[in-house]
Amino acid sequence: MTSFPSVPLVSKSARVKCVECLHGRESMECSSISKWEFVNLLKVSISYIIKGISRQENIMAEQEENLMEKIVSLCKRRGFVYPSSEIYGGFAAVYDFGPYGVELAKNIREAWWQAMVRDHDNIVGLDSAIFMHPKVWEASGHVGGFSDPLAECRECHARIRVDHLLEEAGVFADEKMTEEEINALLVENKGKIVCPKCGKKNFTEAKNFNLLVKSNLGNFTGDFTKEPTYLRGETCQGIYTNFKYVLDSSRVKVPFGIAQIGKAFRNEITARQYIFRTREFEQMEMQYFVHPSTASEVYEEWRAKRFQYYLDLGLKKENLRWHEHENLVFYAKAAWDIEYNFPFGFKELEGIHNRSDYDLTQHSKFSGADLSYRDPLTNEKFVPWIVETSVGVGRTFLAVLTDAYTEEEIGKDGQSDTRIVMKFPKKLAPVQVAVFPLMKNKPELVEKAREIYVELKKSFRCEFDDNGNVGKRYRRQDEIGTPYCVTIDFESLEDGAVTVRDRDTMAQERITISDLPQYFLENLK
Ligand SMILES: [Zn+2]
Repeated sequence: MTSFPSVPLVSKSARVKCVECLHGRESMECSSISKWEFVNLLKVSISYIIKGISRQENIMAEQEENLMEKIVSLCKRRGFVYPSSEIYGGFAAVYDFGPYGVELAKNIREAWWQAMVRDHDNIVGLDSAIFMHPKVWEASGHVGGFSDPLAECRECHARIRVDHLLEEAGVFADEKMTEEEINALLVENKGKIVCPKCGKKNFTEAKNFNLLVKSNLGNFTGDFTKEPTYLRGETCQGIYTNFKYVLDSSRVKVPFGIAQIGKAFRNEITARQYIFRTREFEQMEMQYFVHPSTASEVYEEWRAKRFQYYLDLGLKKENLRWHEHENLVFYAKAAWDIEYNFPFGFKELEGIHNRSDYDLTQHSKFSGADLSYRDPLTNEKFVPWIVETSVGVGRTFLAVLTDAYTEEEIGKDGQSDTRIVMKFPKKLAPVQVAVFPLMKNKPELVEKAREIYVELKKSFRCEFDDNGNVGKRYRRQDEIGTPYCVTIDFESLEDGAVTVRDRDTMAQERITISDLPQYFLENLK
C-alpha cells in the first residue's frame, strides 16, 4: 500500500514542513506545531535518513511531497484554497475556498447533482438542516460508537490516532476495532510505533474518542455538555428522518433515491493531508431505498455507475481503483471504496455501501415512527434496504486538482521554460473563456473586447483580463485552467475575427466573432 510517508518530511535541502497541516511553509510559522517541535522533527527525520530508508523510497516520498507542495502553493497563489483564519495564525484542519476554488467546487457539486438527481427519474433532492434532534445520533450509533482510537505520547503529549499509526507501520487496523483489539495491537507492535512528533515510542493506552462535534444550540443552561446538540457527523441521517415525508409528498415508489449535498463535521484527531481530511467538510450522499431481495443486484449497478461517473467527469482511469473493506460493520452487507491516486497515494474517494435495513429500523425503534413501506402492487410490507453512495466535495476537488496539474517544458531557442497548466475537464473549469484586448491603452480594442465579453458571458463562465502582456495573461489563465483565451487585436476591427488559443495544445486559430458562441458551445461540452 502506498501511503503518506510516516516519517516527518524533510527534503534534500533539509527544509522542515508541518506534518499536521501540510501548509507547505518553509519557515517555522505553522500554527499547529511549535518551534521546539520543528527542531525535534528535524532530528527525528535525520535519524530516519541515517537509519537508511532506501534511496528509492526517499525519491518517491520527495516526488509525492513535491506534487502536494506544488498543488498547495498553486491553490493559495491563484485563489483556489486558503488555510482558515491565517491572519490569526491559522486554524488546523479547516480550509476556505477562494474565488476560483468556489467556482470549481460549485461545478463539482453541479456535476454530481446532474448525474445523481437530474439524470434519474426516481432520485429526488433534499436539503436537511445541519442540526437535528439529538436522539438521531443515538439511533444512528454515533453517540455510542462513532469514535477513533486515541493515544497520547507520554514524552511530548502529542495526541495520535492509533489505527493510522499502526497502518503506516504495516499493521492492519481500523476505527471499527474495539479498544481491546487496538490496544492488543499497540502492545504487540510496540517497537514499530513511533510518535510522529518526537520520535519516541512511549504511549498511553488507546481510548475511543467520539468524533461528534457538540454545540449549545437551543441550550441555555451554561453547561451544554450534559445535553448537547450536535453538528451533524454525516448528511445521510437527514435523509433517513425524511424518508417517510418524501414518500408521502412526492411521486416516488421503491426503488427510489434521495440525494443531498451539505456540510458535516467531525472532530478528527489527526486531520491532515490538506483538504483530504478536514474537520468541517461537505458531503454528496445518495441513499437508494430498495426491496431486500434486489439489494445485491442494485448495489452492483451503483458500483458500476459510480466508477463510470469519475471517468465521465474526466479523471484518468489509471488514477482510480477499487478497494473492498476487509472489516465490515455488523449491519453492512457490502462496502467498497473507489480510491483515487492522490499525491500521497491511493486513498478513499467515494464509499459505496449496502447498509441493509439498519438505518430505517434504528430510526423506527428510537422514534416510534413506522418507517416500513407497503408495495402498492403486491401489498407487501417491508423495511427497505439502503444502498448508499457517499463522496466529499473536498476529496473530489483534490482529485480533480491532482489529475489536472501539469508541468510542460515549452522553452524556445535553447532557453528552458516550464508552464504550469491545470488541465481541468472543460465543464469543471472555474473560467471557461478569458477575453483580452491585445493592449490595455487602446480604447477601440478595449471597447470591442468588452462587447465580446459581455456577449459570451451570457452563456459561459468568462473573465475579462487586460493586465500585463498577452503572454503573462496566458500563463495566469493556464494556472487557473481556463480552456480558451480570446484576443482582440487591430485586425479584429478590420476583419471581424479574433484569435482563440487552446489551453492544452496552445494552438491558435482565427474565429469570426459571430461564430464564437457556437464554437464554444461545441468545444466546451
Ligand atoms: Zn511524542
